[in-house]
Amino acid sequence: MQIFECPICGKRNETEFHFLTEAGKERPEPAEEVSDSRWAEYLYLHKSPRGKTNEIWVHIPCGEFFILQRDTVTREVYRSISLQDYRTKKGSNQTE
Ligand SMILES: [Zn+2]
Repeated sequence: MQIFECPICGKRNETEFHFLTEAGKERPEPAEEVSDSRWAEYLYLHKSPRGKTNEIWVHIPCGEFFILQRDTVTREVYRSISLQDYRTKKGSNQTE
């Protein structure tokens, strides 16, 4: 069992969280012209890298969506970042 940290509620059991997708995926545009297979790939296929990764999770009890930085091999959890803070830092190249 792992402990994840919600940016709003703090540290909680992993069972309270739900994985949504990898962070940084580019939405194919224009969406109305994208093939069904390309759209399904965007929605459902993930790179699932070994090691450090940025993922989007939601804390189910409060509904907060956030970035979880963790290592998929060691299961170490580095930090949680609200999506707003992540976008602000990404825009200023301070994500890593
Ligand atoms: Zn929460």
